[in-house]
Amino acid sequence: MASAVGDTNRTSVQVPHLQRDGPPISQRTPFPSFLATLGMTRSPGSLTFSPMSKILAAVMPKPDAPVELREFPEPELEKGSALMEVELSEVCGTDVYLREGRLAGVPYPIIPGHVSVGRLAKIRGTLLDVDGKPFAEGDRITFLDVHKTCNACYHCLVAKATTRCPHRKVYGITYGTEDGLTGGWSQMLYLKPDTRCIRLGDVDFETYMAGGCALPTSLHAVERAEVSIGDTVLVLGSGPVGLSCIIFARMCGALKVLCIGAPDKKLETAKIIGADAILNFQSPDGPNAADWVLEQTNGRGADVTIEATGAPIAVVQAMRYTRDAGRVVIVGQYTDHGEIAFNPHVDLNKSHLDVRGCWGSDFSHFYRGAEIMKDADRSKPWSLMKLDRYPLARAEEALNDVAAGRIVKALIDPKQ
Ligand SMILES: [Zn+2]
Ligand SMILES: [Zn+2]
Repeated sequence: MASAVGDTNRTSVQVPHLQRDGPPISQRTPFPSFLATLGMTRSPGSLTFSPMSKILAAVMPKPDAPVELREFPEPELEKGSALMEVELSEVCGTDVYLREGRLAGVPYPIIPGHVSVGRLAKIRGTLLDVDGKPFAEGDRITFLDVHKTCNACYHCLVAKATTRCPHRKVYGITYGTEDGLTGGWSQMLYLKPDTRCIRLGDVDFETYMAGGCALPTSLHAVERAEVSIGDTVLVLGSGPVGLSCIIFARMCGALKVLCIGAPDKKLETAKIIGADAILNFQSPDGPNAADWVLEQTNGRGADVTIEATGAPIAVVQAMRYTRDAGRVVIVGQYTDHGEIAFNPHVDLNKSHLDVRGCWGSDFSHFYRGAEIMKDADRSKPWSLMKLDRYPLARAEEALNDVAAGRIVKALIDPKQ
């Protein structure tokens, strides 16, 4: 969800969504033997490609066209760059929108997959972490998918809103194959100079990717929500962002977390990972959602509501389901689904509401997300999510399953 581009005006609406298959880590191809399949060998301190080595990636050639498998040569590494062997990437709602051509400024053909995890296979020069410690080949990492934030423009320096920097580029979204292996649906990913890498230590890759791109996005949204200890937090949407918002709201001290979403499978996950009460808004026999919220909140509405649905109507609902002088955060409108009417007097001014948007994430959200995943207790809710793995050759099927909302979360596993 780290899109940095403007959006087009097309209509169909699909709330992003997500499932856990595949062999346990212990049964997966170990690092050196996979390198051998690529024609690579490990020599002391470095990895070497044979001249014939080819790297397989799943490519979106253009909007409304099927994903293709393509081979790429080993990239030449610039000074300060690195090559990451991808262990896992994912399919999120943004990828569905990319296939539908709903985002403007996307340089097709692209290798999708903005948030990914893997191992540093090759480093040219020195690559430092945030503490100034050099990375080594073989280190398990993730990286900030946003690149080229300029630290020189008005938004970076004056507004201190780097996620609105006009110069930023996003791996898997606004970088295309012309820029190299710049997406995670690939056996190898090219980390350009100045890409910010983050150590994952012995974090379980699958658990990290259960959060995936929703992890920093939700962390940012809950930060914007300023949840107070004892608050009742309402989360609209039970996709990956909604689910991670539930976990973070709990971490911030929410006493009660409510979730309105669909279908039942995702709401069951919401319950497992920490929601106190759930409502399927699509259920014909269910209560009216507004009545249900009032009933859950002593007739007041939620203290804080986080909208993570993708449907414009949910923004108005978020305002109306929140108590007077409460707070609303909008994090589900990553593509332009059109306009919606509301009553400024009733819904905003008289209700003394604090409504905040939330766009993208910065390094701090990625870093703190990764640190939380290193804590066995705190990361447990993500380890309970059901995920489905797809090899590169089935990326199209993964997109279809995400678009149809059939699964909780789709992972792309380039090693299958
Ligand atoms: Zn995403
Ligand atoms: Zn800037």
